[in-house]
This record gives sequence, structure tokens and C-alpha cells, in this order.
Amino acid sequence: MNRKGLLLVFSGPSGVGKGTVLKEYLDKHPNTVFSVSATTRKPREGEIHGRHYFFLSREEFDLLVENGGLLEYAQFAGNFYGTPREAVEQNLEKGIDVVLEIEVQGALQVKEKCPDALLVFVMPPSFEELCRRLAGRGTEDAAAVGRRLSNAAREMEAAKHYDYIVVNQTVEDAVDQLEQIVCAAKHTAKYLREFIDEVEYDAETCCK
Ligand code: 5GP
Repeated sequence: MNRKGLLLVFSGPSGVGKGTVLKEYLDKHPNTVFSVSATTRKPREGEIHGRHYFFLSREEFDLLVENGGLLEYAQFAGNFYGTPREAVEQNLEKGIDVVLEIEVQGALQVKEKCPDALLVFVMPPSFEELCRRLAGRGTEDAAAVGRRLSNAAREMEAAKHYDYIVVNQTVEDAVDQLEQIVCAAKHTAKYLREFIDEVEYDAETCCK
């Protein structure tokens, strides 16, 4: 069977609950790792360097870009974010699945560079429900919620470029959908082409 891991790119608008879905999925699938991104944004309370993000200065980030150390990067809400390439490649080589939780510009870069990547976008059941969830958090004023909503509308436009959509009605359903999508992706002929070649080779040599 295929010995390389699957590269899973996971995106969705702010407030859709993608972090919760992903956490649940990762807890259930120990052979999947979360890719820790580099960012120029300042740490929020409770965030740990190396666990939530690698918090870098703008100079350090630029150096990584220059050295080809990032698989993709993008600017979002005034800060830079990028995926450190080496850790992703090493894990995939070892047969470990890697999840990137990134915004849409970066996801589309990954799609170009890694055609085998699986792009999954999380949608709310409706826009009204997203409004309810964002307003219900109660952590931001109306203007900030409004900004997040127009950002969300823009991000959702990109959903059609993804391979699959998960609808987050409930976390349990969403995790279930994600598991089925990953399972289907791992059974495509494209993903299993090395395995097919190996069996074909064995068949040829065995029948000689
Ligand atoms: P936050 O600052 O709220 O943690 O993240 C803001 C946005 O940046 C989220 O949409 C998140 O998915 C995205 N993001 C996090 N890491 C990366 C990354 O490495 N690359 C890209 N392109 N986006 C990222």
C-alpha cells in the first residue's frame, strides 16, 4: 500500500468551528499531525511558541521565504502566515498524514505545488447560522463581527476550488464527514498509484 502520508489542507471562515472539528479528528487519528505554522502575528494569551505557532519577527519570516523554507505563505489581517516545508515533507515521507489549517490563498498555492494534496473546506449550514455563531461568541463588538462576516463571505467564494466540503451542522457529523472524505481520498487510484505499480511489477515478474 501507499507508504506516503496524505497532505490534508483544511480551511473555513472564522466562526465556522473548524478548530473544534480538527481537534476532535486529530484526537481520533494519532497517525495524523498538525503542521505548526510560522507567523508574524503576536501570540495571544495562552499560545505557546512551537505548539500553536512559531512566532517570528518580520525579518525572520522574510529569511524563511528567501531560503525556500515555506511551502506556502500569505498575508492575512495584516500579518504573515506560512507553512514550514521541512516538517511537512519529513512526516509525509514517514507515512504520517499532515494537516494544514490555513486560509484560502495559501491553500490554493498548496494545490498548485502539491497536486496530491486533499483540500477540504468547512462551511456553516447557512450564512445566518454563521452570523449567529459569531455574534453568540460575545467576545467582540458589532463592528468586529461585521468585519469577520464580510471576510467569511469572501473566503467562502473560494470554496468551489476545494476538493470537498464539510458542512458543520454538528461537530460529530462534521468529523464523520471528514473521516469519510479522507478514507475516499486514500482509495483513489491517483493516491495508490505506487501500490498499483508494485502489484503490476510483481505480477509481471511472477508470471515470467
Ligand atoms: P489566527 O491569527 O486567527 O490564528 O489565524 C488567522 C488565519 O490564518 C486563519 O484563517 C488560519 O487558518 C490562517 N493560517 C494559519 N496558519 C497559516 C499558514 O501557515 N498559512 C496560511 N496561508 N494561513 C494560515
